[in-house]
Formats: sequence, C-alpha cells, structure tokens
Amino acid sequence: MQKEKQSVKVSGLSYSVNGKTIVADASFEIKPNELLGIVGPNGAGKSTLLRLLTRIIHPSGGNILLDGKDVSRYQAKELYRKISFLPQTSYFDFPLSVLEVVLTGRYPYLGIFESESKEDIKRAEDCLSLVDMGGFSQRKVTTLSGGEQQRVSVARVLVQETDFIFLDEPSSHLDIHHKFALMELLKSLARKGRGIAAVLHDLDLASRFCDRVLVLEDGRVFALGEPSRVFSEKLLSSVFKVRGSWDAQSGNLLVFR
Ligand code: ADP
Ligand code: MG
Repeated sequence: MQKEKQSVKVSGLSYSVNGKTIVADASFEIKPNELLGIVGPNGAGKSTLLRLLTRIIHPSGGNILLDGKDVSRYQAKELYRKISFLPQTSYFDFPLSVLEVVLTGRYPYLGIFESESKEDIKRAEDCLSLVDMGGFSQRKVTTLSGGEQQRVSVARVLVQETDFIFLDEPSSHLDIHHKFALMELLKSLARKGRGIAAVLHDLDLASRFCDRVLVLEDGRVFALGEPSRVFSEKLLSSVFKVRGSWDAQSGNLLVFR
C-alpha cells in the first residue's frame, strides 16, 4: 500500500554557477506510481536538475521536500534508502565482477564493516535478471559492452529498493529491444508504487511510456503534463526545432526534421 506522505516536492528551485543561472525557479512534484520523463535540448539543465534532486549539488535557491522533509536535512544513508540515482555517465574503471558492482547498491543498508548477506546477493541476482543480465554476475564489468554496462548500472539502482528513482539518460546505449524493455520495466515499477523520473532524449520513447513529461528549456520548466497535451506542434517546433504530430491511428508521436 502507498503511504500518503510519499512525495518529492520541488519549489522555486534554482542553481547558478559563476553568475550563470542553470536551473531557474523550477516547481513541480514527482508522485508515487508515476513515470515522469524529463526532456529538453542539450544544455537545458536536465542533468543539473537530477543532481540537485539527488543532493549531489546544492541549490542556490528554493527547496526539495522528500516526504515532507528538506533533502538537506537527511543523513546520507537515510536519504539513499529513499532515493537512487543513475548518473548520465558511469564508467567502470576497476575490474570488479558484475555482482560486486550491483551489490554496492546495498551500501545504504549496511553498517560500517558489515558485508552483504545472502539475501543481498539474491536481491542483486534478481535485479540483474530484470535487466536481462542474469548469468553475467561473475563477469568482470570492464569486459561488458556499453549497453550491458548500462543495464548493470540500472540493476545497481534497482537493488537500492528506493521509493523514488532518478535516471539520467538510462537508455542512451541500449538497442531498441532493450530500450523498450527498460521503459516497460520502469513503468511496471511505477505501477507498483515507485515514483520514477528519467531524463530521455528520445521523444518517441517519452511519449509512449511516460505518464507525464517535464520540458526544460534554458533551465526553466517550459511545460509539464501528459505527453499528448505537451508535445504540440508548436512546442516541438519552438523547443526542439523539429516538426511533429500525433498519428491518429497508432496514437504515437511522429517527429520529422
Ligand atoms: P543537460 O540538459 O544537457 O543535461 P546540464 O544540466 O548538464 O544540461 O547543463 C546545463 C548547462 O549548464 C550547460 O550549458 C552546462 O555547460 C552548464 N553547467 C552545468 N554545470 C556547470 C558548472 N559546474 N559550471 C559551469 N557550467 C555548468
Ligand atoms: Mg545531461
């Protein structure tokens, strides 16, 4: 059952560096049970927004309330038992096994010097199966392809078992089959009560799978709502510099140069 208080509420959020405003006065909510797509041109501030939400960087103004409490007031382990994050780029420099990498996602649940339990290993194996990486647990992560590494990174996020999941371009290295499979997985996790926000470049993917989309332009929330309402010809042209329309027969968004 869903707890009433589960929510991420962003109010007047801003972030500036060296006098340059990167995120400006953003206000929105991420709800449990929903898959929110964050879209926008290169440099719009999407990654910065996710880094603020996950407390990697700190706002210049405004606030983020997680279950009614400002994220700055959480102890690290307490925070990362509630939210997890897949960064835009995650390199694997060390030749750890896939299982060892995924198990690092259990860190918020372990005491100092405590090692992972058999249950943790089972959880990690289950998450690997969810991303179609079952059977890879003993492989060195450095020997995997880019797409396989990306799926391992998703498994590491899932094993954290958080109410809210933030992902920055989670499908950028995936083939079309695994792109769809990942979006279906995220949608089913949302339907089980998670609140999920994913930065996506593929507007087709966002329109097919997301419950709502947030369009960022120059650090501002330009639009927020259901894809079919948000992705108007006018918005696609002004924000994304493409032509686009909805195909009445398939219900899919068609985008052209
Ligand atoms: P994107 O929407 O492509 O993910 P980002 O959030 O990564 O965009 O960056 C938004 C803009 O802010 C970019 O122009 C980027 O160069 C700039 N930016 C981000 N972080 C910094 C920083 N620490 N110092 C200067 N500029 C930054
Ligand atoms: Mg980015």
